[in-house]
Amino acid sequence: GRKFFVGGNWKCNGTGEEVKKIVSTLNDGKVASSDVVDVVLSPPFVFLPLVKSLLRPDFHVAAQNCWVKKGGAYTGEISAEMLVNLDVPWVILGHSERRALLNESNEFVGDKVAYALSKGLKVIACVGETLEQREAGATMDVVASQTKAIADRITDWSNVVVAYEPVWAIGTGKVATPAQAQEVHSELRKWLQKNVSAEVAESTRIIYGGSVSGANCKELAAQPDVDGFLVGGASLKPEFVDIINAAT
Ligand code: 13P
Repeated sequence: GRKFFVGGNWKCNGTGEEVKKIVSTLNDGKVASSDVVDVVLSPPFVFLPLVKSLLRPDFHVAAQNCWVKKGGAYTGEISAEMLVNLDVPWVILGHSERRALLNESNEFVGDKVAYALSKGLKVIACVGETLEQREAGATMDVVASQTKAIADRITDWSNVVVAYEPVWAIGTGKVATPAQAQEVHSELRKWLQKNVSAEVAESTRIIYGGSVSGANCKELAAQPDVDGFLVGGASLKPEFVDIINAAT
């Protein structure tokens, strides 16, 4: 089976003091063993060393982005090599906020995923449709094109987790229903089966993100194709512990 995966995306939030507080709450949290659930926290770049130094050893860290190729004259960017050098094992790529606000195209995200994997990072690759696209009946087309841009550029999926994050559910309190999430996850898995391989479809974790909370996580986690979560707002709160335990 696919191991449950819970990521906490802190986005552009936190002070040093707040970071210490959140980490200390999580360090005290009673959670299932790391044989059963992967927990990955994604603080802003500047807090990665601090979080790494304080965090319990069964939890891991992720960066929220990295540059598309080798470092160099790219002011303001952080390279995959730097993350590897800091022992940061994971990176989130293609988050909808970056796609929308920083104009990251499907192809650019695909290039980033391929480069990060080639340097040994593990990748949480985000896909998801806007409300307009959903209402136009284009959800699967959008998600398939975003996934195809990745599939065209990589062959080994063993270090990839796909995060389905419908844009209309992010930060809105409007969580997808368990049936809505299951439908897209199952379609996405079928897409992988048809376009990559049956083995990749079976083994790749597809996690859900968008207004996940302590209150709604259990029902979502019970869906057969929901293999975990990527959590924004609630990952900064003590209820994140309940979300980590959603499947147990
Ligand atoms: P919220 O959980 O705050 O809706 O954010 C989801 C998200 O974007 C995680 O990457």
